[in-house]
Amino acid sequence: MAWRTADVLIVGAGIHGCSLAFHLMRQGGRRVLTIDKQYLGAAATGKSSSLVRMHYTDDPEARLAVRSYQYFRNWAEVVGGDCGFTQTGFLRLVKPVDYPHLRKNVDRLQCLGVNTRVVTRDEIAEIQPGLNTADVEIAAYEPESGYAEATLCAVEFMNAARAAGAELLSETRATAVRVAGGRVVGVATHRGEIAAPTVVVVASVWTRELLQPLGVELPLYPVRHQVAFLLRPPALARGHVMAIDGTLDMYFRPHGPALTLVGAREGEVIDDPDHYDEGVSEEFLLTVAEKLSHRFPPFAEAGFQRGIAGFYDMTPDSKPLLGAVPGYEGLYVEAGFSGTGFKIAPAVGEAMAELITNGRAQTVDLTLFRLTRFAEGQPIYGPYEYHDYISKHAQPAAG
Ligand SMILES: Cc1cc2nc3c(=O)[nH]c(=O)nc-3n(C[C@H](O)[C@H](O)[C@H](O)COP(=O)(O)OP(=O)(O)OC[C@H]3O[C@@H](n4cnc5c(N)ncnc54)[C@H](O)[C@@H]3O)c2cc1C
Repeated sequence: MAWRTADVLIVGAGIHGCSLAFHLMRQGGRRVLTIDKQYLGAAATGKSSSLVRMHYTDDPEARLAVRSYQYFRNWAEVVGGDCGFTQTGFLRLVKPVDYPHLRKNVDRLQCLGVNTRVVTRDEIAEIQPGLNTADVEIAAYEPESGYAEATLCAVEFMNAARAAGAELLSETRATAVRVAGGRVVGVATHRGEIAAPTVVVVASVWTRELLQPLGVELPLYPVRHQVAFLLRPPALARGHVMAIDGTLDMYFRPHGPALTLVGAREGEVIDDPDHYDEGVSEEFLLTVAEKLSHRFPPFAEAGFQRGIAGFYDMTPDSKPLLGAVPGYEGLYVEAGFSGTGFKIAPAVGEAMAELITNGRAQTVDLTLFRLTRFAEGQPIYGPYEYHDYISKHAQPAAG
């Protein structure tokens, strides 16, 4: 006999599991149960740099980012509580070889409704005094972008879902997905069986091992990513712009009243996502300090405060795997966000809840993210990819 039952069982309480629980309750109010082998926000969500920007080189993700931005701006009304959104403005710098692509992408994004424009060296200096623009001619600028607080967002999504009747069970590890006669019937956990006609596995790279026994091979792999927090120099006490700097393969943003967060090129594939080095290396600290003080000279004297390492759940095209698992009615996957999943979580949850509830995602079409796209030779690439690490897996179309 089952230990618990649910109409929809969500495996994983990161930002995506929590967003899905919220949207399922809002759209249908069914018995939604979310389980996590640890606790809410224990993995990538709890470490996310939480940049909220819309500059994507592909339309499908840009659409998800545009839709999600409305949540961050109107969080109190739409979800309730506070998501910690701080508007800083956002600059996307690229290598000179990519300037033509930058212009094309800004045109594309404007057509999708993004408030963005190409800015010149002089304009960049006005937007952020103190930035070194000697090696930069143009950038893409989003004046309304910024950053939020990923754990807070996950908590607020789950609070609202629970207020509507959903449940969360922490320290409950799914050990197997149960299927019978071509459909899902629940999951086994280390605490007992949970029966459910709909199961959504939202468990980052661990999704792979849960689906493997069903003969479903998902191309998911963990790549370590380090982030440093530096003390902000007095000249920048009031904050500064947020940027992804493709010329130096790094990104930075203010972090609260006194710190600046810096991330840089992704690291190595890790063997075991349950046991890896969660600290930062001295080599990384020296590298980011050097890069940041090149781009932003006031940081030359900045002190190091702390650092963390998490991992990205990568896929071969750096785009998520979203949708139904072929061959198993009622079974769905949401994973593989490849280091950029926080900012699209509201819209992904909304569209996945529509898919599960109505059989079709209306808000944003998710078909391109289907699980079979690699087997079908249909990975997702934008028409104007860049030659930097954010696009590192991309293979731009010829011409
Ligand atoms: C250092 C870092 C910086 C980042 N910066 C940004 C950024 O600036 N902007 C952005 O948009 N994105 C960023 N990301 C990516 C973003 O944070 C992730 O894409 C997002 O948090 C993924 O959420 P998730 O819910 O899919 O997965 P996770 O947050 O990883 O959650 C998965 C959950 O599943 C649970 N789980 C796993 N296996 C089982 C099981 N068998 N049974 C039960 N539970 C299970 C885990 O315990 C975990 O809580 C960053 C990521 C990292 C690591």
